[in-house]
Amino acid sequence: MKFTVFTLAAAVAVVLAWRPVTMGTATDLSSYVTHAPCSRAVTYRIGEIDPRYSMTEEEFAAYLKEAANTWNTAFGNEVLAHDDNGTVTVNMTYDTRQQLSTQVNRLENELKEEQSTFAEQEKKYRQDLSVFEGRIAEFKSRVEYWNARGGAPPEEYDSLKEEENSLRAEADRLNQTASRLNITSESFNSQVREFRGLVSEFADQVKNRPEEGQYDSGTKTVDIYFFTDITDLRHTIVHEFGHVIGIGHVDDKDAVMYLYANDTLLPNPADLEALAEACRVRPVYEVAVNRIREIAAFLREKSETIDR
Ligand SMILES: [Zn+2]
Repeated sequence: MKFTVFTLAAAVAVVLAWRPVTMGTATDLSSYVTHAPCSRAVTYRIGEIDPRYSMTEEEFAAYLKEAANTWNTAFGNEVLAHDDNGTVTVNMTYDTRQQLSTQVNRLENELKEEQSTFAEQEKKYRQDLSVFEGRIAEFKSRVEYWNARGGAPPEEYDSLKEEENSLRAEADRLNQTASRLNITSESFNSQVREFRGLVSEFADQVKNRPEEGQYDSGTKTVDIYFFTDITDLRHTIVHEFGHVIGIGHVDDKDAVMYLYANDTLLPNPADLEALAEACRVRPVYEVAVNRIREIAAFLREKSETIDR
């Protein structure tokens, strides 16, 4: 904590010491000391796409272009442009949450398939069982008929014997099917349990769906590391590109630049206000002061982590 206080004091001292110099500069140099953040487009390039996303570079490029155009249109000038040697690298990185989401989807599909196979087999079993019961009833009445007459003639006796054997075989087959179906439903139930476990684990991981990408202004890298569907991905790219052109988070929960993920794809009034602020032409000293504020906030955050 002592370290932070010292650093903050030093930062303030730098600003105070630096300010008079700027103020003392001749006014006609004002164009020289202003900074226009969005006067030149920030260029981006595609870095790595983790193969587990099964997304082609062309597809990814199209989503990036769409997001860049969104901000270009919003600003009314090109603020983001693709360039094979661009300054900002955009990656699609695979993380635990994506892995869980993929597992949940796969298991869900397997369950659906198994459920329909199971339902079909069960239906067939019930049909066979009802045919079997009909045959038993018929067999029984034939036996009773001949018994009442003191026994069946040899031909009829052989035919009854044959039917009896066939019914026994069918009974065995039906019993086997019944126990197999029972096993199927048991394994199905255990799969359902596994599925529920995965879903709840997944829900824990994505509580509040925090930001699904990250922009590191130091290394000039955007990592997209999670999405549930294409809308989600498109949102994340627009959001991260917002950071790339200098926009921070806004409080409006429907905004593209809201801290948590949502389905917003186009900047809303809160985003546009933040964009205007990020692109506002400002005196250079203000840029320096903001940079120092950022560093101070970063150090404060770090010291809080250390304190904990
Ligand atoms: Zn963000």
